[in-house]
Amino acid sequence: MAYAISDECISCGACADGCPVGAISEGDGKYEINADECISCGACADTCPVGAPAEA
Ligand code: SF4
Ligand code: SF4
Repeated sequence: MAYAISDECISCGACADGCPVGAISEGDGKYEINADECISCGACADTCPVGAPAEA
């Protein structure tokens, strides 16, 4: 199960820097996860200051 980023995202970019497979990119108003690349490591959820990434 891949992770996804909710609308709580404040576009700080911290999760994208920490993703080991480069699956996170800046989208329209928030960051987004490419579900085909995400290996569900959970690093983005641990890094995010607002708890936006979660298993989808
Ligand atoms: Fe990247 Fe891991 Fe977050 Fe998936 S769960 S987007 S692999 S940091
Ligand atoms: Fe958005 Fe959280 Fe990623 Fe920052 S760390 S870009 S708030 S999902």
